Amino acid sequence: MHLATMLELAAERHPEAEAIVDERGRYTYARWHERIEHVAAGLAELGVRAGEFVACVTRNSEAMATVYFALHRLGAAAVPLNFRWSAGELAYALRDSGAVGVLYEQTTAGRVAEALGQAPGCRIRVQAGPAADGAVSFAQLVASGARRPTAARRDDDINVMLYTSGTTGRPKGVPRTHRNDYAATVAMIIEHGLGRFERTLGVMPLYHTMGLHSLLSMVFLNGAFIVMSQFDPDAALRLVARERIGSLYLVPTLFHELVRRCAEVPADLSCVRKLAFAGAPMTSTLVRALIDRFRPETFVNHYGSTEVYIHSTNARLEASPTSAGRAAFHTRLRVVAADPDRRVGPEEVVPQGEVGEIIVDARSPEAFGGYHNRPEATARALRDGWYFTGDTGYLDDRGEIHVTGRVDDMIITGGENVHPVEVEDVLASHPGVLDVAVVGLPDEKWGQIVAAFVVPAGEAPTPEELDRLCLESRRLAPFKRPRRYVFVRTIPRTASGKILRRELREGRYEPVAPMEEQAGARPQTTSD
Ligand code: AMP
Repeated sequence: MHLATMLELAAERHPEAEAIVDERGRYTYARWHERIEHVAAGLAELGVRAGEFVACVTRNSEAMATVYFALHRLGAAAVPLNFRWSAGELAYALRDSGAVGVLYEQTTAGRVAEALGQAPGCRIRVQAGPAADGAVSFAQLVASGARRPTAARRDDDINVMLYTSGTTGRPKGVPRTHRNDYAATVAMIIEHGLGRFERTLGVMPLYHTMGLHSLLSMVFLNGAFIVMSQFDPDAALRLVARERIGSLYLVPTLFHELVRRCAEVPADLSCVRKLAFAGAPMTSTLVRALIDRFRPETFVNHYGSTEVYIHSTNARLEASPTSAGRAAFHTRLRVVAADPDRRVGPEEVVPQGEVGEIIVDARSPEAFGGYHNRPEATARALRDGWYFTGDTGYLDDRGEIHVTGRVDDMIITGGENVHPVEVEDVLASHPGVLDVAVVGLPDEKWGQIVAAFVVPAGEAPTPEELDRLCLESRRLAPFKRPRRYVFVRTIPRTASGKILRRELREGRYEPVAPMEEQAGARPQTTSD
């Protein structure tokens, strides 16, 4: 199914149902669909044609969601970009995608203007809110005459190109077809246990796969997408209560902030029945805190990517809090030998219980067909019909997958492999640990040592206490215990919740006390 048809059917089925709410207005499916038709006509008048891309550099808003669907009416596609990117990063993506136009807002206008100077092909400018400098305003597009565009609807056309957040290197464009995202949406609805007229918090950015599929799943179900353009935990809790939001699909970091503030903010959260997280692993401590606080009907660990969408899900988090579950509906999962040089094939499967690289069957209808303009990256990621995730993990004795980190973040200390996520999970269970990241630091004797960067909750625990916790947990072999503890103010993360381990390895962090006062090092002995 083409996504323009999916929207049209929702508007015909339940025209009076609430579709989207933002700071500027509330729209039923009937009203929103009409606006989309007008905006499509307006974009056509500005010269947007089938097969072309229009970039969006705005925070989540009705305007952005409207432009996304309006482009589909023209056979065109959106390129939603991270609204925090610098002018240089935006210019790169505008040139790389070949976007003919851009939607932006006041907060991004300056950077977009600078970027446009380096992207001459991008000639159409639409500003959400009052327009300046000769740009067309979004309101003008809405006021365009509703001339029904007649572009062909082909399921294999591109509907969106997302740029992968990536923790290293230049972002890569991931073109996704209507077929890909229709399949991904249906699978998500089933995997997350969503129903008709669901209401969700639209706070995950629409430039990320999670935000985009939150929106698409609501449209399929005649649900409501309640926009929050900037995350603030107290305001989010109040909005959830006021709008009677039933489903939250967020990265672990946002759940962490919400659960911390629940006790302080008076808000009736009994409406929240369905929880799902993706983007990064969640510690078992946080899983338990969420179960205790919300007592949800469904709570799902959704392991996936921009490229393939859902790899696996675990809906039994109470019993198995660190598992990412079994393969999702459209795919298969395997664990193969982890090879940082990416030469291993899909047949080199490792024995059950052994850590390797997780690969998923790329014949899934949710799977992309290759990166935009990046044949080498495509050849590395897609091999013999499989998508190589770059994630490390293992299958447990029940056949469930556990994600342990990234191939490039695996720590090798004295010839032994250590996977950051398992160490983080143990450390996060200490009440004095608010947040934690584990990385390998170069060491003359051991090659690398395991180092833990800890954000203390109140008074910092001592390294000795944390070391004792690792030993007594019985979940970590002694050589996996951190050799060094560094107490820091924050852990750097991407907007999709991923730890930027490289920044920590390169010394880009703010210690809570001068480093010379932090007695975090523990000598490593061969008896470990
Ligand atoms: P993105 O394309 O931004 O969605 O990032 C995909 C990557 O995020 C995956 O390859 C994993 O490294 C990580 N990821 C996504 N979901 C999970 C999850 N549930 N548990 C652990 N890691 C995850």
